[in-house]
Amino acid sequence: MASSDRLDPLRNRSAPLDMSPEEFRKVGHQVVDRIAELLESLPGRPVTPAETPSTIREALKASRGLPDHGTEAGPLLEATTKLLFNHSLFNGHPRFLGYITSAPAPIGMLGDLLAAAVNPNVGAWPIAPMATEIEAQTVRWIAELIGYPEDSGGLLVSGGNLANIVCFLTARSSKAAWNLQGLGLDANPAGPLRVYASTEVHTWIHKAMDISGLGTDSLRSIRVDDESRMDLADLKSQIDRDLSDGDQPFLVVGTASTVSTGAIDPLEALATLCRERDLWFHVDGAYGALAAAVPEAAELLAGMPEADSVAVDPHKWLYAPLEAGCALVRDSEALRGTFAHSPPYYHFGEVATNYFEYGLQNSRGFRALKVWLALQQVGRSGYVQMIRDDIDLARALYDLLADYPEIEPLSQNLSITTFRYLPKDLLDHSETEPVRAYLDSLNQKLLARIESSGEVYLSNAIIQERFALRICVVNFRTSFTDIEAIPEIVMRLGRAIDEELRPTADLSLPFRQ
Ligand SMILES: *Cc1c(COP(=O)(O)O)cnc(C)c1O
Repeated sequence: MASSDRLDPLRNRSAPLDMSPEEFRKVGHQVVDRIAELLESLPGRPVTPAETPSTIREALKASRGLPDHGTEAGPLLEATTKLLFNHSLFNGHPRFLGYITSAPAPIGMLGDLLAAAVNPNVGAWPIAPMATEIEAQTVRWIAELIGYPEDSGGLLVSGGNLANIVCFLTARSSKAAWNLQGLGLDANPAGPLRVYASTEVHTWIHKAMDISGLGTDSLRSIRVDDESRMDLADLKSQIDRDLSDGDQPFLVVGTASTVSTGAIDPLEALATLCRERDLWFHVDGAYGALAAAVPEAAELLAGMPEADSVAVDPHKWLYAPLEAGCALVRDSEALRGTFAHSPPYYHFGEVATNYFEYGLQNSRGFRALKVWLALQQVGRSGYVQMIRDDIDLARALYDLLADYPEIEPLSQNLSITTFRYLPKDLLDHSETEPVRAYLDSLNQKLLARIESSGEVYLSNAIIQERFALRICVVNFRTSFTDIEAIPEIVMRLGRAIDEELRPTADLSLPFRQ
């Protein structure tokens, strides 16, 4: 037993980590002021400082040991805001158009702070009563926004990968005709389980095939057409081949839309096929599903409401700060059937939803709050407007590019546009091998040069084996002015690189006088 000499001071315990309300107010206001200054200054900053790992490590003093003693919170936070603001890429910058990572909604930043303050563990209802109900409402609203049945089940997870994997595992346990949960894959009484997705499917599926024990060889990669959409005839013949080999097809994954070009698989036809063949139909709508909120884009996603499950990312087109993904499953009991084990040491009863029984996590953070706040701050109409504007801006770039003889527009879907720099004199030779290779290397170097310029941030895609530059607008701060600036930047930097590379390039062009 500890002596009472030791315990007496603990009657008025003072822990080094605690903060007085006065101090919290003071440093909290300071942090909020710094964030407001950041928001104000964003358009004038480079999108990224494009520093090397060693520069970043130096700024951080990465190799210093764990401090023995503490630092006061005020100065510590002040130094930390400087460190982050001076050495980060800002996906909230109006000219961040690279990956499908959105600008974070300011109300979401405050939502995360508020969520951490209450700190509910949204694994079980009794220890997170309001947070659990807010999550349930958020999930229902997301379903409503994309036209998915509102009585479907679902939960928030870390992102698209996990949302897809949760749906995948639910499909597997729902379609397995034996006691998979108890006996495992080895007890499969029939042929191996097979999964179908196009060659353009996101890499989450390989992780899912692996961790589910099916193995990546059980994934059937289905051909795509010229527009990167799954080829239905190839899908059907692959399923037939597998059936005649005694395999068990159980899951078709439709992508809406693909990460590289925004292509949308023929969802309606896939839904019909899956219904006829009794297969689980899953839609990976991590990015594109939210376009269904916009009436004129919803047609492109027809068929999605019939899916057995849909993955959608609030941290993409709902502009939630990272992380927030959402798994939606038409039959919510299927989720419970997959993830609930109800061990005897959990006595939470049946009074309400205990989310630990609906997914992979046990302790769970309050991800829903930031999404729930944003949905209410702007409502359906606000989201329709922002998503529509993002799509219009990506299309506007595609249209603008037609006026630039040295830029070749390559694809346009939803808010993704791809193109490449193509020097005028190479236009007629772009299909010859040396020129193809030269253009790939030119555009690769151009992308790096654009990034280090900090003027705008793009990414790349491979379009019919050509290296392309790509914008994806999931950014409510991007304006038409930002979009209009892109062709000039691409031309200026593209010409400069072409001039640097040309003298040593062997393009085997026909001799011209
Ligand atoms: C972004 C994306 C993913 C992965 O989502 P994360 O949130 O990055 O885990 C999966 N599929 C598609 C189609 C995506 O666009």
